[in-house]
Amino acid sequence: MRYITKRPQPEWYRDFRRGKTNLNWDSFTRSHQAEKDRLKQELLEEQHYLCGYCGAEVSMRNSHIEHVIPRSLLASRNFQNITPLSYPNLLVSCQARRHPEGDDTCGHAKGNWYDPNLFVVPHATDCETYFAYTHAGEMIPASSDTFSPEYRKAATTLEKLHLDTYALNTARKEMISVALGDDLETPLTIEELELLHHEYQRPDDQGRLKPYCFAVLRVLESELALLQNA
Ligand SMILES: [Zn+2]
Repeated sequence: MRYITKRPQPEWYRDFRRGKTNLNWDSFTRSHQAEKDRLKQELLEEQHYLCGYCGAEVSMRNSHIEHVIPRSLLASRNFQNITPLSYPNLLVSCQARRHPEGDDTCGHAKGNWYDPNLFVVPHATDCETYFAYTHAGEMIPASSDTFSPEYRKAATTLEKLHLDTYALNTARKEMISVALGDDLETPLTIEELELLHHEYQRPDDQGRLKPYCFAVLRVLESELALLQNA
């Protein structure tokens, strides 16, 4: 998971919503497709074209707009000032299933689940501290204390969003292998690791980050720590 720095609500979106007191998510979807597409494009740029939950590469075609606090909850409870159209509650998620026989992940797996105490939300500044990644591409709780609240929150999020599926582990492992190289005889030097770390943090000229870059970054950091402490 990568921390999403939310931009302010786009001015055009604020102007579009102004005065439309009857606008809800259904009528927005039904009657304002151009605006909905434009909104999705804003979110894609905000997230550097990565799924807000798993970090897979997403585009206009293979993603959906996801409500962090689900619409069903916003409709049934009184969340101050948050409506299904509220910009801060939105992100772009992948379309879940990577293989026809595979599991749903991310927004589709999450469905209507929401528990503020057990859900690591990518809009929270500390979200990245909850997870660690192995060389095999597994995403695991960063805390090793299985009785800690941090472990429980991370483990529940992994379980509810299916972020540790075989397909996702394989995809992350592949990216980690690409970054580290497969020449086990000559491990990377501190300088090479630092250069890679810099590279995986920066979006390219089109504002895109590499898929699963945060997993690669955490692994690079653990490699660096090993060398620096050697
Ligand atoms: Zn995803």
